[in-house]
Amino acid sequence: MDNPKYKELKGKVVAITGGGGILCSTIALAFADQGAKVCVMDLNMKSAEAVSEKIINAGGVAIAVQADVLDRESLQAAKKEIAEKFGFCDILINGAGGNHPLGTTSESYLLKKDMERTAEDFKTFFDLDMEGIQFVFNLNFIGTLLPTQIFSREMVGRTGCSVLNISSMNAFTPLTKIPAYSGAKAAVSNFTQWLAVHFSKVGIRVNALAPGFFLTDQNRSLLTKEDGGLTPRGTTIIDQTPMGRFGEPEDLVGTTLWLSSEQSKFITGIVVPIDGGFSAFSGV
Ligand code: NAD
Repeated sequence: MDNPKYKELKGKVVAITGGGGILCSTIALAFADQGAKVCVMDLNMKSAEAVSEKIINAGGVAIAVQADVLDRESLQAAKKEIAEKFGFCDILINGAGGNHPLGTTSESYLLKKDMERTAEDFKTFFDLDMEGIQFVFNLNFIGTLLPTQIFSREMVGRTGCSVLNISSMNAFTPLTKIPAYSGAKAAVSNFTQWLAVHFSKVGIRVNALAPGFFLTDQNRSLLTKEDGGLTPRGTTIIDQTPMGRFGEPEDLVGTTLWLSSEQSKFITGIVVPIDGGFSAFSGV
């Protein structure tokens, strides 16, 4: 710990929602490595604690805070706890997010014969469940907007404050099968631009990462087989990724620190693809 490349991040209070997850735990460790005071917020307190312990054991400064990004009271309580321990938040990372099977179709394309299929687990567009779709929009969009409302209020008028959202490559061009997740992340990208403009006179920058395909627990079974080989979907992704591999959580670190530091002080409202060239490749 304390390996500062961005000296201005030292001592900053960084609140990370979904901080117990795969991608954001790596981001939490990276901020701690810059000497920041890291608030690992998660619905799942056990995973938040595991990350904060890892930071503290490595000599960094961190606390685990239970917070539900969809619950105003829970977020207010988290803010109070953080303010008492570390002071007001300087940098907010909106990392909580994810998909839901009920907002996902079984196949990429609808074929006429699919209309006759009766298997309960086979889902076409017509079977998409509003509960699943609402869950995904809430978690990704409201779960970004609400924590920002709560945590950015005290950023107004201070210097060096910023918000970093986590969108996705599917916000630019939707991926097959996951209309709810793609639409919700498109909303996150759009909101990033909206808020960047809205906050532009009060010194708060707002940007987003758009990760491509990162192998995590959520998608591992979709992309890889038990023997470690690729599923057809995994193969399609790698074939469409010029760099020829999935992303590693560490691939997000450089852009995250840069967008949170003074090195990017004239940058607001951008959504940065971190995708190994996926979005640049036409497939031919
Ligand atoms: P993850 O499931 O490992 O982490 C998400 C974390 O959010 C979990 O720790 C979970 O407990 C927490 N969480 C869930 N609901 C919550 C709530 N209501 N309140 C607070 N915390 C809650 O997922 P990940 O793959 O590390 O993804 C992190 C972010 O990156 C998400 O926004 C995801 O949509 C986005 N993303 C991931 C990928 C990928 O390939 N993994 C690609 C693009 C974008």
